[in-house]
Amino acid sequence: MYNTPVVDAHLHVSEDGRWFDTKYNATLSALTEQMDMGGIAKGVILGLAQLEQNDYLRKICGESKGRLFALASFDPTKQAVDGLTPYLDSGLFKGVKLHPRRENYSPMDERVFPLYETASKNGWAINFDAFAHSTRLPMDELRPAVFDRIAKKFPELKMVLSHCAAPWVMEAFFAAKSNPNLYLDCSFIIERFRNSSVLMDLLYTARHLDAKLIYGSDFPEEQAHRYLSLARVEFNELPEEKKRNIFGLNAIKVYRL
Ligand SMILES: [Zn+2]
Repeated sequence: MYNTPVVDAHLHVSEDGRWFDTKYNATLSALTEQMDMGGIAKGVILGLAQLEQNDYLRKICGESKGRLFALASFDPTKQAVDGLTPYLDSGLFKGVKLHPRRENYSPMDERVFPLYETASKNGWAINFDAFAHSTRLPMDELRPAVFDRIAKKFPELKMVLSHCAAPWVMEAFFAAKSNPNLYLDCSFIIERFRNSSVLMDLLYTARHLDAKLIYGSDFPEEQAHRYLSLARVEFNELPEEKKRNIFGLNAIKVYRL
Protein backbone atom coordinates (compact mmCIF):
# COMPACT_ATOMS: atom_id res chain seq x y z
CA MET A 1 0.00 0.00 0.00
CA TYR A 2 2.79 2.40 0.91
CA ASN A 3 6.28 2.39 -0.54
CA THR A 4 7.76 2.57 2.94
CA PRO A 5 7.50 -0.60 5.02
CA VAL A 6 5.05 -0.35 7.91
CA VAL A 7 6.67 -0.29 11.34
CA ASP A 8 4.72 -1.05 14.50
CA ALA A 9 6.78 0.77 17.11
CA HIS A 10 4.80 -0.16 20.21
CA LEU A 11 4.62 -3.88 20.95
CA HIS A 12 4.98 -6.07 24.00
CA VAL A 13 5.45 -9.80 24.46
CA SER A 14 5.87 -12.09 27.42
CA GLU A 15 7.81 -15.32 27.56
CA ASP A 16 4.92 -17.40 28.90
CA GLY A 17 2.31 -15.61 26.80
CA ARG A 18 0.36 -14.29 29.78
CA TRP A 19 -0.43 -10.60 30.00
CA PHE A 20 -0.96 -9.54 33.61
CA ASP A 21 -4.58 -10.07 34.67
CA THR A 22 -6.01 -10.10 31.15
CA LYS A 23 -6.88 -12.85 28.70
CA TYR A 24 -4.68 -11.37 25.96
CA ASN A 25 -2.25 -13.70 24.23
CA ALA A 26 1.17 -12.06 24.45
CA THR A 27 3.21 -14.82 22.81
CA LEU A 28 5.80 -14.11 20.15
CA SER A 29 3.97 -16.47 17.79
CA ALA A 30 0.70 -14.50 18.16
CA LEU A 31 2.61 -11.31 17.49
CA THR A 32 4.38 -12.56 14.37
CA GLU A 33 1.16 -14.05 13.02
CA GLN A 34 -0.61 -10.71 13.41
CA MET A 35 2.33 -8.83 11.90
CA ASP A 36 2.16 -11.18 8.90
CA MET A 37 -1.61 -10.68 8.57
CA GLY A 38 -1.19 -6.90 8.65
CA GLY A 39 1.84 -6.82 6.36
CA ILE A 40 3.87 -5.17 9.12
CA ALA A 41 7.52 -5.26 8.13
CA LYS A 42 9.23 -4.35 11.39
CA GLY A 43 8.39 -4.08 15.05
CA VAL A 44 9.77 -2.51 18.19
CA ILE A 45 9.08 -4.45 21.40
CA LEU A 46 8.98 -2.37 24.56
CA GLY A 47 10.36 -4.21 27.56
CA LEU A 48 8.71 -3.95 30.95
CA ALA A 49 10.91 -3.89 34.05
CA GLN A 50 8.38 -5.87 36.06
CA LEU A 51 8.82 -8.83 33.69
CA GLU A 52 12.66 -8.72 33.80
CA GLN A 53 12.67 -9.64 30.14
CA ASN A 54 15.75 -8.01 28.61
CA ASP A 55 17.52 -11.35 28.07
CA TYR A 56 14.41 -12.83 26.48
CA LEU A 57 14.00 -9.80 24.21
CA ARG A 58 17.64 -10.01 23.16
CA LYS A 59 17.12 -13.67 22.22
CA ILE A 60 13.96 -13.21 20.16
CA CYS A 61 15.15 -10.04 18.42
CA GLY A 62 18.42 -11.79 17.57
CA GLU A 63 16.45 -14.65 16.02
CA SER A 64 14.11 -12.36 14.06
CA LYS A 65 16.61 -11.62 11.26
CA GLY A 66 16.20 -7.86 11.48
CA ARG A 67 12.42 -7.80 11.82
CA LEU A 68 12.17 -7.13 15.55
CA PHE A 69 14.05 -4.67 17.74
CA ALA A 70 13.51 -3.79 21.38
CA LEU A 71 13.65 -1.08 23.96
CA ALA A 72 15.28 -2.28 27.15
CA SER A 73 13.25 -2.19 30.31
CA PHE A 74 14.67 -0.14 33.17
CA ASP A 75 13.46 0.76 36.64
CA PRO A 76 15.49 3.73 37.93
CA THR A 77 14.31 3.08 41.48
CA LYS A 78 16.06 -0.31 41.50
CA GLN A 79 18.65 -0.47 38.71
CA ALA A 80 21.80 1.33 37.61
CA VAL A 81 22.33 2.60 34.07
CA ASP A 82 25.53 0.56 33.64
CA GLY A 83 23.44 -2.60 33.54
CA LEU A 84 21.87 -1.45 30.27
CA THR A 85 25.09 -1.16 28.30
CA PRO A 86 25.47 -4.83 27.25
CA TYR A 87 21.94 -4.83 25.87
CA LEU A 88 22.21 -1.54 24.03
CA ASP A 89 25.63 -2.46 22.66
CA SER A 90 24.15 -5.58 21.06
CA GLY A 91 22.49 -3.43 18.39
CA LEU A 92 19.17 -5.22 19.00
CA PHE A 93 17.99 -2.62 21.50
CA LYS A 94 17.35 0.87 20.19
CA GLY A 95 16.57 2.63 23.42
CA VAL A 96 14.87 2.26 26.76
CA LYS A 97 11.27 1.96 27.91
CA LEU A 98 10.27 3.78 31.10
CA HIS A 99 7.01 3.16 32.89
CA PRO A 100 6.80 5.78 35.66
CA ARG A 101 3.24 5.02 36.72
CA ARG A 102 3.87 1.28 37.01
CA GLU A 103 6.98 1.76 39.14
CA ASN A 104 5.70 4.89 40.85
CA TYR A 105 8.31 7.58 40.19
CA SER A 106 8.16 10.98 38.59
CA PRO A 107 9.87 11.37 35.19
CA MET A 108 11.53 14.42 36.84
CA ASP A 109 12.94 12.26 39.67
CA GLU A 110 16.70 12.87 39.76
CA ARG A 111 17.30 9.13 39.93
CA VAL A 112 16.38 9.04 36.24
CA PHE A 113 18.82 11.77 35.20
CA PRO A 114 21.85 9.47 34.75
CA LEU A 115 19.80 7.55 32.22
CA TYR A 116 18.79 10.75 30.42
CA GLU A 117 22.44 11.75 30.22
CA THR A 118 23.67 8.37 29.00
CA ALA A 119 20.85 8.05 26.48
CA SER A 120 21.55 11.57 25.17
CA LYS A 121 25.21 10.74 24.69
CA ASN A 122 24.57 7.42 22.93
CA GLY A 123 21.54 8.33 20.83
CA TRP A 124 19.21 5.92 22.65
CA ALA A 125 15.56 6.91 22.40
CA ILE A 126 13.42 6.74 25.52
CA ASN A 127 9.78 5.76 25.24
CA PHE A 128 7.76 6.91 28.23
CA ASP A 129 4.45 5.43 29.17
CA ALA A 130 2.55 8.70 29.47
CA PHE A 131 -0.99 7.56 30.07
CA ALA A 132 -2.76 9.34 32.92
CA HIS A 133 -4.07 6.37 34.83
CA SER A 134 -2.57 5.50 38.19
CA THR A 135 -3.78 4.83 41.70
CA ARG A 136 -0.40 5.91 43.11
CA LEU A 137 1.43 8.43 40.92
CA PRO A 138 -0.27 11.84 40.87
CA MET A 139 -1.65 12.45 37.38
CA ASP A 140 0.13 15.74 36.89
CA GLU A 141 3.51 13.94 37.01
CA LEU A 142 2.60 12.52 33.60
CA ARG A 143 1.43 15.70 31.90
CA PRO A 144 3.17 16.56 28.63
CA ALA A 145 4.26 19.82 30.29
CA VAL A 146 6.53 17.70 32.54
CA PHE A 147 8.10 16.04 29.50
CA ASP A 148 8.47 19.46 27.88
CA ARG A 149 10.70 20.40 30.84
CA ILE A 150 12.79 17.24 30.41
CA ALA A 151 13.09 17.83 26.66
CA LYS A 152 14.48 21.31 27.32
CA LYS A 153 16.80 20.18 30.11
CA PHE A 154 18.15 17.34 27.93
CA PRO A 155 17.94 18.71 24.38
CA GLU A 156 19.90 15.79 22.90
CA LEU A 157 17.57 13.20 24.43
CA LYS A 158 15.17 11.59 21.95
CA MET A 159 11.85 11.15 23.74
CA VAL A 160 8.63 9.43 22.69
CA LEU A 161 5.41 9.85 24.67
CA SER A 162 3.23 6.77 24.35
CA HIS A 163 -0.50 6.97 23.67
CA CYS A 164 -0.09 10.67 22.74
CA ALA A 165 -0.18 11.23 26.52
CA ALA A 166 -3.95 10.71 26.52
CA PRO A 167 -6.08 12.46 27.62
CA TRP A 168 -3.77 15.48 27.12
CA VAL A 169 -3.29 15.03 23.38
CA MET A 170 -3.31 18.74 22.48
CA GLU A 171 -0.85 19.49 25.27
CA ALA A 172 1.32 16.67 23.88
CA PHE A 173 0.94 18.18 20.41
CA PHE A 174 2.40 21.45 21.69
CA ALA A 175 5.16 19.68 23.62
CA ALA A 176 6.15 17.84 20.43
CA LYS A 177 5.84 20.98 18.31
CA SER A 178 7.94 22.98 20.77
CA ASN A 179 10.80 20.51 21.13
CA PRO A 180 12.70 18.98 18.20
CA ASN A 181 13.60 15.97 20.39
CA LEU A 182 10.07 15.04 21.49
CA TYR A 183 7.80 12.63 19.57
CA LEU A 184 4.44 10.96 20.17
CA ASP A 185 3.13 7.46 19.53
CA CYS A 186 -0.50 6.79 18.74
CA SER A 187 -0.78 3.30 20.24
CA PHE A 188 -3.85 2.05 22.12
CA ILE A 189 -6.09 5.10 21.85
CA ILE A 190 -7.93 4.92 18.52
CA GLU A 191 -10.74 2.54 19.45
CA ARG A 192 -10.76 3.12 23.22
CA PHE A 193 -11.37 6.85 22.90
CA ARG A 194 -13.72 6.84 19.94
CA ASN A 195 -16.30 9.62 20.15
CA SER A 196 -14.11 11.59 22.54
CA SER A 197 -11.86 14.60 22.07
CA VAL A 198 -8.83 12.29 22.21
CA LEU A 199 -9.50 10.90 18.75
CA MET A 200 -10.23 14.33 17.26
CA ASP A 201 -6.99 15.66 18.75
CA LEU A 202 -5.06 12.66 17.44
CA LEU A 203 -6.37 13.35 13.93
CA TYR A 204 -5.47 17.02 14.29
CA THR A 205 -1.95 15.95 15.31
CA ALA A 206 -1.69 13.61 12.32
CA ARG A 207 -2.72 16.41 9.96
CA HIS A 208 -0.49 19.11 11.45
CA LEU A 209 2.47 17.29 12.99
CA ASP A 210 2.93 14.10 10.99
CA ALA A 211 6.72 14.37 11.31
CA LYS A 212 6.38 13.80 15.07
CA LEU A 213 3.78 11.03 15.17
CA ILE A 214 4.88 7.39 15.30
CA TYR A 215 2.57 4.49 14.57
CA GLY A 216 2.28 1.65 17.11
CA SER A 217 -0.48 -0.66 18.27
CA ASP A 218 0.29 -1.72 21.86
CA PHE A 219 -0.02 -5.44 21.11
CA PRO A 220 -1.24 -7.51 23.01
CA GLU A 221 -3.61 -4.83 24.38
CA GLU A 222 -4.63 -4.39 20.73
CA GLN A 223 -4.34 -6.89 17.90
CA ALA A 224 -1.52 -5.65 15.70
CA HIS A 225 -3.23 -6.18 12.33
CA ARG A 226 -6.61 -4.93 13.54
CA TYR A 227 -5.21 -1.73 15.04
CA LEU A 228 -3.35 -1.08 11.80
CA SER A 229 -6.63 -1.33 9.90
CA LEU A 230 -8.25 1.12 12.32
CA ALA A 231 -5.38 3.58 11.95
CA ARG A 232 -5.45 3.31 8.16
CA VAL A 233 -9.14 4.18 8.15
CA GLU A 234 -8.65 7.16 10.49
CA PHE A 235 -5.60 8.48 8.59
CA ASN A 236 -7.02 7.66 5.17
CA GLU A 237 -7.46 11.27 4.07
CA LEU A 238 -3.86 12.25 4.79
CA PRO A 239 -1.48 12.81 1.88
CA GLU A 240 0.71 9.78 1.16
CA GLU A 241 3.80 11.63 2.36
CA LYS A 242 2.29 12.11 5.84
CA LYS A 243 1.19 8.49 5.98
CA ARG A 244 4.71 7.38 5.14
CA ASN A 245 6.05 9.44 8.03
CA ILE A 246 3.53 8.12 10.54
CA PHE A 247 3.49 4.47 9.49
CA GLY A 248 7.23 3.98 9.14
CA LEU A 249 9.72 6.75 8.44
CA ASN A 250 9.48 8.45 11.84
CA ALA A 251 10.07 5.20 13.72
CA ILE A 252 12.98 4.32 11.43
CA LYS A 253 14.54 7.71 12.18
CA VAL A 254 13.91 7.95 15.93
CA TYR A 255 14.73 4.34 16.78
CA ARG A 256 17.46 4.04 14.11
CA LEU A 257 15.97 0.84 12.66
ZN1 LIG B 1 2.41 -0.40 25.87
